[in-house]
Amino acid sequence: MIALAQVKPWIPSSATLRHYVIAKLRSLGLSPEIMPFRTFLSSGENVIVDICRQEDGSAGPRRLIGAHYDCCELYDNLGSVLCLIEAAASLYHGNTRHAWRIVFWDAEECFQQGSNAYLARGSVLTHSTKGGVEHSECLKHDGVYVDVDGMGVGPCLFARQIVQNTSNSRLSNSRFLLDADVFFRHGIPSFHIFSGPRSFREIYARDGLLGCHLALCENELATFQNWRRAMPLCRQSIMKLVAAWEELSLLDALHETGVICLTTI
Ligand SMILES: [Zn+2]
Repeated sequence: MIALAQVKPWIPSSATLRHYVIAKLRSLGLSPEIMPFRTFLSSGENVIVDICRQEDGSAGPRRLIGAHYDCCELYDNLGSVLCLIEAAASLYHGNTRHAWRIVFWDAEECFQQGSNAYLARGSVLTHSTKGGVEHSECLKHDGVYVDVDGMGVGPCLFARQIVQNTSNSRLSNSRFLLDADVFFRHGIPSFHIFSGPRSFREIYARDGLLGCHLALCENELATFQNWRRAMPLCRQSIMKLVAAWEELSLLDALHETGVICLTTI
């Protein structure tokens, strides 16, 4: 008999998950905008939802948070997508004073083509029904970007600020480049939020993101059972973080909600 832990659960395709995200957001009363893109590597569709309850709420830099929805594992990145749908709902039904944008990226697993297209100059953008997302508009309003990638690995949330071009660092393997790195390259401060057991703190200090990834594969953290166990805590933590970021600066919100801030190596 095959143990349940050995059965790889069904991972939805990008198209299936995109339809789910759009339908879910609409059912919550939100109006997601689709941003189709085509580059020489791939084509796809980012799903963008803006939330701004008050008339004067758009003042100041936008709070931008995103997760890629093309998945290769449950924790990478279905878990994050589910967390951000919930965050969108709570912001929409709350009384946010800020302009929020939540983006579900396509084609992250293909050299981050979705976020590259979002930030690229007009030529690679095909315009959405509402006129598309302009490069200058993105840079003007997106004060800081929070990239959620890796939810359902463990009970703790970790944050690493991208402070260097990782293509020149120890993490030169493109597998470990994320949408957060794309924002950093465009001059927008960005943070990568991921989950894991507390031991990731030491592993990260020693071996970086690659070390955490190897630990994840070696310690049965990538199983369906573990994902299902960790997800409620991850969802709770992301909700708390978003609520705190509504009131505080991002750094204060991370501190306030117990997210473990890592020194980027
Ligand atoms: Zn990912």
